[in-house]
Amino acid sequence: MTILDGKATAASVKQSLKVEIETLAERFGRAPKLAAVLLGNDGASETYVGAKVRSCKEIGIESLLIRESENISEDELLLIVNQLNTDDTVDGILVQLPLPKHINEERITLAIAPIKDVDGFHPENLGRLVLGVESYTPATPLGIMMLLSQYKINTEGMHAVVIGRSAIVGTPMSLLLSRNSAPGNCTVTLAHSRTKNLKELTLQADLIIAALGKPEFLTADMVKNGAVVIDVGITRVEDSSSSKGYVIKGDVNFTEVSTKCSYITPVPGGVGAMTIAALMKNTVHAFIRRNTTADI
Ligand code: NAP
Repeated sequence: MTILDGKATAASVKQSLKVEIETLAERFGRAPKLAAVLLGNDGASETYVGAKVRSCKEIGIESLLIRESENISEDELLLIVNQLNTDDTVDGILVQLPLPKHINEERITLAIAPIKDVDGFHPENLGRLVLGVESYTPATPLGIMMLLSQYKINTEGMHAVVIGRSAIVGTPMSLLLSRNSAPGNCTVTLAHSRTKNLKELTLQADLIIAALGKPEFLTADMVKNGAVVIDVGITRVEDSSSSKGYVIKGDVNFTEVSTKCSYITPVPGGVGAMTIAALMKNTVHAFIRRNTTADI
């Protein structure tokens, strides 16, 4: 069994991006810039945004963190997004999800200019992903594809079972794995909470992507010998013995499943680290597109 080291792979992706950014900054007279909007002070969102801002700094992307109260109105948030859309110095925009209940996530996602939508959540970018034309791929599925590539895992002809059909993880993941390219060329089953006999499906899978948000859901009896297992889940589980009062758990029971599979991602240090590296990649991509495409 090989552990797919997301932390090390992300570090090497970021190192290459750093070198690329130095060249780009020289050529275009400025560095790429990512703007992140964070509402309120939810612990997990703070952690994610903090890690994104730190990664920007590490590799030479300028970052702009806009913090607002969770009581901000939808119109005020739309105004901020519109200002970032028209700010020529900003290449990428992300609004950290989840948003407070009184704000319509779809309206905010739609308001972000597709060319700056480095999270890849705008319908135009998701539509482009379906068609296989240039777009920003949502960071988590893109990070997983990068990890599969790095470890030269030949997915051609594999039966992949993706558990979870969210628009930001499971659905784009299933599209990418079914593409006629490498990694890809899988036969994909997309499972969700209404799927019957999930265990029968996962037992047939050569590749399992667990993205449902249920700690340690995937157990050894659900996995066939030699399968590749990717754990997307990140859930904070209360634990009084930890100084933080919680521990982070993935969707896979790592101790059990790692004894059966060929490759597996750990949590933490797997998909989470790759997600941030993929976001950095999308931001550099946005910078290049904005500086070199005539229609912008
Ligand atoms: P989500 O929007 O809540 O979607 C969860 C999906 O799992 C839904 O499609 C749901 O089915 C399905 N599901 C729930 N219970 C199930 C069950 N018992 N059997 C089969 N399917 C089930 O979650 P998400 O945003 O995709 O995130 C999933 C997990 O990944 C979370 O733990 C999240 O924190 C984590 N995450 C990690 C990263 C990272 O960087 N590592 C990035 C994003 C998300 P229905 O559609 O039928 O409800």
